[in-house]
Amino acid sequence: MASDAHPRFFVLKNAMDSSHDSTFERSGRTIGEAPRCHLCGSFIGMRAWLPPRRGELTLYGTEFGDYIKGPGSGHIFSTRFVEAFRVEGLTGLSDFEPVEILRVRRRRRLPHSKSPPPYFHSVPVFGGAAVDEARSRIRRHKPIDCDWCRETNVPSIHGFTLEQWRGEDVFFARGMPGSPIVSERFVRFVERHQLTNMKLIPTEKYTWDPMGLGPLRPEL
Ligand SMILES: [Zn+2]
Repeated sequence: MASDAHPRFFVLKNAMDSSHDSTFERSGRTIGEAPRCHLCGSFIGMRAWLPPRRGELTLYGTEFGDYIKGPGSGHIFSTRFVEAFRVEGLTGLSDFEPVEILRVRRRRRLPHSKSPPPYFHSVPVFGGAAVDEARSRIRRHKPIDCDWCRETNVPSIHGFTLEQWRGEDVFFARGMPGSPIVSERFVRFVERHQLTNMKLIPTEKYTWDPMGLGPLRPEL
């Protein structure tokens, strides 16, 4: 269980049904290789999305979000997000590359039709921390056999804890496929700048169980 003495972490998701609910779909096929673990060769991310990066935005809310889950392991951030991230010296995202919005689909009838802000693509760093298996409730298809990537299929998650944090603010954790993880400093940054379309779930409360398998063992 996290205490004040230990850093806390949060899973970063899009805030669906918010006033800034926005999604992105890429156009065309500009797909590269998927990254692999330098020790065991397992895939540690999705195939890279290469330039030219173009696609369509869908606006479900009334305003464009500052954060949108992107294609593959990448994510898309508004210019407001990118500027504030750089000014405050947060870490774990780099190489912000422009994304060309070819078209905006609106799911609501709005009195105004503003243009979207400039958006930028970035892939969070892999390996900023590792899952602490003994203090996590993660169902795995097979035992972890590589201590670096800790890559396995994960059918269910009912809370998890991290170890070996390197201090980055946004990252993919070893042994935790799927969503990026963020630091407490990142959460305060989001609140201070009122950045939108982000849902931040404490890792110990994060549940992912699409097959309804239930928790592996009692509460942590
Ligand atoms: Zn490995």
